[in-house]
Amino acid sequence: AAGDALLTVDGLTSAYSRIQVLHGVSIQVPPGELVALVGANGAGKTTLLRCISGVQPISAGSVLMQGKPITGASADARVRAGVCQVPEGRHVFAPMTIEDNLRMGAHTRPAAEIADGLEEVFTLFPVLRERRHQPAGVLSGGQQQMVALGRALMGKPRLLLLDEPSMGLAPLIVADIFRIIRMLRDTGMTILLVEQNARAALSIADHAYVMESGRIALQGRGRDLLKNDEVRRAYLGM
Ligand code: ATP
Repeated sequence: AAGDALLTVDGLTSAYSRIQVLHGVSIQVPPGELVALVGANGAGKTTLLRCISGVQPISAGSVLMQGKPITGASADARVRAGVCQVPEGRHVFAPMTIEDNLRMGAHTRPAAEIADGLEEVFTLFPVLRERRHQPAGVLSGGQQQMVALGRALMGKPRLLLLDEPSMGLAPLIVADIFRIIRMLRDTGMTILLVEQNARAALSIADHAYVMESGRIALQGRGRDLLKNDEVRRAYLGM
């Protein structure tokens, strides 16, 4: 039921000027689950995440956290409600040190908790501890993705929205990032993952939605969708 989900999106419609790109999208993310949203380029996945985090206006429908509407809330208020989006393209602050990049994610937390937050992130990503005083710009793409993820975790989110974390990364690094995402889920984090890499996303997802032209076309358990003929043809190149 909607009341049991951490995130509920109900009948969401959104447009860029007069072009409607989401046509009544409904999804649910239960607490502690990893839910994937896959689909072709331009299907509206990023737009949906932006509607949830509050940076994209919606024209109809609602977004609820634990059954409470946040539809009209500012992006800031949604962060306080525990919604945190890691945008596509990583966006680390290159001249700033890794540690300072991470600290920026903690502005909603009391100062006394920041050291604990850093410790948690460095435990998850030991390579960031070693390099904490170096500028983030010298890191590899995969390590920058770790900084982007770590910065989000510093805010102690209840819902993590990940937009294409594998984009532009080499296959070995992609495997590493997916291993980390699964590990986060295993520690209890609730995650909504947007990915073009449908195979990898469906392999780790508890539940998944396939989006086509601004609508949910299919949904099911990640593993079941991997075996679905339509999904195999359209998104797995089989
Ligand atoms: P991608 O993987 O390329 O990000 P996506 O599934 O996330 O794809 P969206 O980025 O949400 O898709 O885009 C959905 C539709 O909205 C596309 O047709 C896109 O061209 C259009 N669109 C996206 N951003 C804008 C914008 N700022 N102004 C106008 N149209 C936009």
